[in-house]
Amino acid sequence: MAEYKAPLQDIRFVMNEVFEAEKLWGSLAGTQDVIDMETADAILEEAGKITASLIAPLSREADEEGCHFDNGKVTVPAGFVDAYKTFAEGGWSGLTGNPVYEGMGMPKMLGAQYEEMLYSADISFGLYVCLTSGAALAIDAHASEELKQKYLPKMYSGEWTGAMDLTEPHSGTDLGMIRTKAEPNADGSYSITGTKIFITGGENDLTDNIIHLVLAKLPDAPAGSKGISLFLVPRNSVDDNGVVGENNNVTCGSIEHKMGIKASGTCVMNFDGAQGWLVGEVNKGLLAMFTMMNYERLSVGIQGFAAAERSYQNAREYALDRIQGRAATGPVNTEKQADPIIVHADVRRMLLTMKAYTEGSRAFSTYVASYLDIAKFSDDADQIKHANAMIALLTPIAKAYMTDRALDSCVAGQQVFGGHGFIREWGQEQLVRDTRITQIYEGTNGVQAMDLMGRKVVANGGKLYELFASEVKEFIAAESDNPALASKLDQLSAALDRLTEATEYVIGATQGDADAIGAAAVEYLDLFGLTAYGYMWARMVAKAAPKVEEDVFYANKLKTANFFFSRLLPGTLSLLEAIKSGSEDTMALEAENF
Ligand SMILES: Cc1cc2nc3c(=O)[nH]c(=O)nc-3n(C[C@H](O)[C@H](O)[C@H](O)COP(=O)(O)OP(=O)(O)OC[C@H]3O[C@@H](n4cnc5c(N)ncnc54)[C@H](O)[C@@H]3O)c2cc1C
Repeated sequence: MAEYKAPLQDIRFVMNEVFEAEKLWGSLAGTQDVIDMETADAILEEAGKITASLIAPLSREADEEGCHFDNGKVTVPAGFVDAYKTFAEGGWSGLTGNPVYEGMGMPKMLGAQYEEMLYSADISFGLYVCLTSGAALAIDAHASEELKQKYLPKMYSGEWTGAMDLTEPHSGTDLGMIRTKAEPNADGSYSITGTKIFITGGENDLTDNIIHLVLAKLPDAPAGSKGISLFLVPRNSVDDNGVVGENNNVTCGSIEHKMGIKASGTCVMNFDGAQGWLVGEVNKGLLAMFTMMNYERLSVGIQGFAAAERSYQNAREYALDRIQGRAATGPVNTEKQADPIIVHADVRRMLLTMKAYTEGSRAFSTYVASYLDIAKFSDDADQIKHANAMIALLTPIAKAYMTDRALDSCVAGQQVFGGHGFIREWGQEQLVRDTRITQIYEGTNGVQAMDLMGRKVVANGGKLYELFASEVKEFIAAESDNPALASKLDQLSAALDRLTEATEYVIGATQGDADAIGAAAVEYLDLFGLTAYGYMWARMVAKAAPKVEEDVFYANKLKTANFFFSRLLPGTLSLLEAIKSGSEDTMALEAENF
């Protein structure tokens, strides 16, 4: 595998030039005095170094070794404990944490860039850190002051890790069916009893405590998802001085043997009358969990394209080095028997597709992160309302579209290697295996698509969609005189018209057809994602075009944009046609005839 190099130039371009981090952070009440551009840049630089030098070199062997389970204990692969310690000492677990509880208070737009580098280095390792940050986020947003003071500083410092315990054997997507019980105790705490499966990092030997956020039901809770509450359950009890004590009846029953992210322990967790504390309100557990989920869903999207970036770096190096066949236009490398495979149009197609989607994803994740920053750090109620609406709309796209395109890109990167991509030595097959889960956990991509089309678009008659469409139209109007964007604005405008037509169609179709949402949702999310990437690429062109003479980076950006607009964005045409075909053909075959 090629040595990982953090793509800092592109990260800086997206964060600083396209999304104007300095201007945004300078305008928000909560970031004005917290971050300056020098600090942000030093953090990026350091993140690039530590991920490339400390974590990336462990990835291959950690995948080979996997996690070990012995009598309730889970041991992570060799090297992870020391690397985690060094990583935690650098304060990375608390990068975006609340400063009141010893977090660093950095904005998400910066956190998103660091997460990309972390996940590019190794998704499994990154999960231990990022789930801790996600759990801390839900605690910070919804737990009592006492719980925050007791748990957050240790989670931000990386001394304790966090886990998210939703899934049960009979209850995955449909969390309303969970059976884990929470019985109230006289002292205000609860006794939690039940079994959770597939819990990432549920047990590990990185730290001396693990803080579980567990969904459970009170005895008198209403049926279904309206009766779910959220509890903080430490694996080991913690006394009033923060000293870790005995096991709190939280044990690991086994770990899964799985396709990818083998260095991340996926645990069956048993809670046997474990003492837990309510986070948020009774029966409002899903709401509290969603605070974490919006961040986690973006984080999973980032996992995807981070792996795709790694796959691209490997494939690019290989394509420049591997010689096979001759260029269609005549030999390029006359000294050798054959030309490097990068001369072939099909190999370039694969590399450019990866590059266009990955750079588009980096821009899109930064765009969503900018709204997360506005929602968290602004003091203007209207601005916060608008940002929250955009986050609700864009989150399912960030999770599903970024990970679907990421798997496509990882497979393309594998294909560039021919047969060598299929064998272990080059690392491409690990990236394909590791990326596959990103389409499944944190809500499958099919369910994300239903969420987008059902809850975020159809349910409000397209009101949230209008916010996005207006933003894109405003951009098109503002750039209408920009010669660098001329034909691209026409293409973007046509893609937006198709998305608007699809939106109107699905809102109408759902009136008389109960299956309309399920049948069209994935194509609708793809059409939305592709159009949104068109918007991202247009914004990148607007910033890169004036600088083409300054650095070849900007000229290359325009060439990649040309490929995106000519070869990928036209996919909106076929997606619209598929959506408009309705649900009839999908539902026609009788279940027993499948
Ligand atoms: C490696 C790994 C790590 C994980 N980590 C965690 C973790 O840390 N914490 C945690 O709580 N969980 C975790 N999970 C669980 C994960 O989030 C679930 O597997 C996922 O949400 C899907 O649930 P399920 O497996 O029960 O599938 P099901 O819900 O049974 O779904 C099966 C299929 O049916 C589809 N489907 C289901 N309902 C609908 C519907 N209403 N409409 C249309 N299609 C539908 C799904 O899209 C899917 O294709 C992890 C899973 C894995 C494999």
